[in-house]
Amino acid sequence: MCGIFGVTNNSDASRLCYLGLFALQHRGQESAGIVSLNEGALQVEKGRGLVSEVFSEKNFSALQGKQAIGHVRYSTAGGALDANIQPLYARVAGETIALAHNGNIVNADSLRQTLEQSGAIFQGTADTEILLHLLARSRKNQFVDRLVDALIPLEGAVTLVVLTKTEMHAYVDPCGYRPLVIGKLRGEGEEFSWIFASETSALDLVGADFVRDVNPGELVSVDLVSQRLRSTALPMQSHQSNTGEESRCVFEHIYFARPDSTLWGQNASLVRQELGQELARCHPAPADLVIAIPDSGTPLAMGYSQASGIPFATGLIRNHYVGRTFIEPTQTVRNFRVRLKLNPVKEIVRGKRLVVVDDSIVRGTTSRKIIELLREAGAAQVHMRIGSPPVKFPCFYGIDTPKRKELIAQKMSLVEMCDALHADSLGFLPQEALVRVVEKHGFNGTRNQGKKGFCMSCFDGTYQDSGAQILGNPEGVPT
Ligand code: SF4
Repeated sequence: MCGIFGVTNNSDASRLCYLGLFALQHRGQESAGIVSLNEGALQVEKGRGLVSEVFSEKNFSALQGKQAIGHVRYSTAGGALDANIQPLYARVAGETIALAHNGNIVNADSLRQTLEQSGAIFQGTADTEILLHLLARSRKNQFVDRLVDALIPLEGAVTLVVLTKTEMHAYVDPCGYRPLVIGKLRGEGEEFSWIFASETSALDLVGADFVRDVNPGELVSVDLVSQRLRSTALPMQSHQSNTGEESRCVFEHIYFARPDSTLWGQNASLVRQELGQELARCHPAPADLVIAIPDSGTPLAMGYSQASGIPFATGLIRNHYVGRTFIEPTQTVRNFRVRLKLNPVKEIVRGKRLVVVDDSIVRGTTSRKIIELLREAGAAQVHMRIGSPPVKFPCFYGIDTPKRKELIAQKMSLVEMCDALHADSLGFLPQEALVRVVEKHGFNGTRNQGKKGFCMSCFDGTYQDSGAQILGNPEGVPT
């Protein structure tokens, strides 16, 4: 998963980009980068680490200009090589361009193979580099037409911002897996800047007004001189979706997006509360307290408490200052990895029958350790309630999930999972209830009539495109 940001027509473009990336830091902590456009030339600063680690005051003297794009990365394709740190930039048909990508191109392996066989040389291993080669191979004269040519063969999740000498482009694939919003930042008099961001929380931080989502299959282009914005609709290609349905990632709502972000017309925190309410109705529990596994479980637990009437309490505390590396103790300290992040409040949980609410269970190892910690702290009972259906299949659209055989829900029945986690009871939100909540408020006008709105592939294994079907099939044959 990654976060992308773009800003036009602002003398503080790179600093605004930096702020935007701060707001999107939860979408990727592995690397960060900004490319600005100054007098027709691209300036690049990027590196490994958090936004606060990569950028300091001295970087901004090398990031002049009124247009900039930025990226925070968590690699799910291609690994953590320096050459994969985005934004990527290249000279394509005489024009220097930079691009930042969120998502995974699921037919990247076959496209890369074809390109390499015809002489293409890749610098890194990220799927995004394929797009640069496809751009270079288009025979069209106008850049925007080259971009359309390059986008059409891609399958999977492709959300982009692209910066050229004359335009900034923003694109969301026809399935609409990842969010991208357009904002407007007012300046002096008639002046204004366009902002593109993965989430509205980034618009809020820079003080921009939300204008609208970039629609699935839409390429939005801004002329950097006039600031005129135009929209091009790309057709859904048959290979991009077998069903022709839109497929927004439902996990953006359940867990990934910041709770203060509005996704496709709905606030993520309110959706999570409603999912928690549904969870309480579907899976009641005899309990004294509802507690959350923070942070993403908190709105779900609040919703569970509201619908069940069981009081909500802060029974687990998250340490927000755990770095990405730490020294392991030489002696065995039980559960230290989980304890490093989460610690029970003994005085709250002791002797209590708890409903413990989390967003999902993947391998089950962390959930089991949390239950163990709560029992050690004196909890009388632990009833696990999960705000999503069981995750039985891997994601190939930019979310880091393990292989199918490592997913606990793939290997075990509900009863077996409950036993393995040492829980007193276990309940998952049914898929119908999830659909009911996320589709309730519509899609802020972005949904094509009569089409399904959300991806549920990690629950039901029905991948939209042949590339993901091949990846998801152990025999390597489309299902
Ligand atoms: S498979 Fe799951 S995590 Fe991946 S895009 Fe679909 S809903 Fe999101």
